[in-house]
Amino acid sequence: MIPYGRQEITEADIEAVVEVLRSDLITQGSKVPEFERAVTQQVSAKHAVATNSATSALHLACRTLGVGPGDRVWTSPITFVASANCALYCGAQVDFVDIDPNTYNMSVQALEAKLDAAERTGTLPKVVIPVHMCGQSCEMQEIGELAWRYGFFVLEDASHAIGGYYQQKPVGNCHYSDITVFSFHPVKIITTAEGGMAVTNNPGLAQQMELLRSHGITRDPNLFADVQYSTSKTVPRIPDHGPWYYQQIDLGYNYRMTDIQAALGLKQLERLKTYVTKRRKLAYRYDELLADLPFHTPWQNPDTESAWHIYIIRFNLEEIEPNRRKVFDFLRQQGIGVNVHYIPVHTQPYYRKIGFDWGMFPSAEKYYWEAITLPLFPTMTKETQNQVVNALKKIAHKIDRMAHK
Ligand SMILES: *Cc1c(COP(=O)(O)O)cnc(C)c1O
Repeated sequence: MIPYGRQEITEADIEAVVEVLRSDLITQGSKVPEFERAVTQQVSAKHAVATNSATSALHLACRTLGVGPGDRVWTSPITFVASANCALYCGAQVDFVDIDPNTYNMSVQALEAKLDAAERTGTLPKVVIPVHMCGQSCEMQEIGELAWRYGFFVLEDASHAIGGYYQQKPVGNCHYSDITVFSFHPVKIITTAEGGMAVTNNPGLAQQMELLRSHGITRDPNLFADVQYSTSKTVPRIPDHGPWYYQQIDLGYNYRMTDIQAALGLKQLERLKTYVTKRRKLAYRYDELLADLPFHTPWQNPDTESAWHIYIIRFNLEEIEPNRRKVFDFLRQQGIGVNVHYIPVHTQPYYRKIGFDWGMFPSAEKYYWEAITLPLFPTMTKETQNQVVNALKKIAHKIDRMAHK
């Protein structure tokens, strides 16, 4: 089966990991800060906080932006569940903004209309989480202007988008947002096995995320809470703790990345440009080879350069039989590991239990029934890609015959 995505691990990657394993510090050594610095340079952000997953980074970001009970957080229904769950972890309410049928990203028009209505009922969100679907940036300038007008924070879920560009600048520069999160899961652009990172230009936000990443514990005397004067007779009146001393000043987590992972990430990051270039070439080749077939290939906003995490085709359900399920099954039978991204989050049983249902976000739902993710990964050869295209030609031929019956 040709997979829809696949990581590349080189001998140099393995050596870098082994080197850490042979050293004294396999976590909390020098590799994590080194990886954080390398990512900030890559994406033109000032600060970075590496984590054990993008899910953790999203949670840290929400906590740090002050999300709590009574707050509202909005995201896209076409995303992985983690983009919405992070708000629920904080006790906040989640809502969704329907997608733009061209980009599959959160629709700016729908966002504006929803904000306008929310302002009148006093139910504006505290944070909006745009998701850069497939690696194509959302319209961040417009979202940033709305954030300014309505006073919400912007948290970019760029799990798909490291190596992508918006208005000629790298995704993650946080020009129109407060925090951006990346994922380094093996199916994403570069990998640390599990892993993620939050980047920001705001030193206060970075410091708070660092604190929460590690139990809410600090050794920095500048952050210490006031000295507690003891009234007990059995301890000194002014506690003289010594160099072992640390304070827990908030309720944090253990969301740390290991040095083993960071060493892998550093090596992978060296190949980010090559990977994105290869993905883009394959994507353009798909565009060409599929041009005459009855599928919609991905539309690209001229303001963006996608990182091409996934390549999605859609077909028009109203016009053609067989349906998506038949196409999907046929391709799988042909050894093509197609997939579907994503089942709209609001239709998941957990979300239906808290009040959402089918019918609420029509563009997202229509998209869901029409979309298929084709295999795309940097080590994919033209021959492998041809196999995918030939299978699609076969099914297109069947579709064509049925349409002319
Ligand atoms: C993969 C992904 C996540 C979660 O990433 P992890 O690193 O696996 O936690 C979140 N959001 C989106 C859009 C993703 O694709």
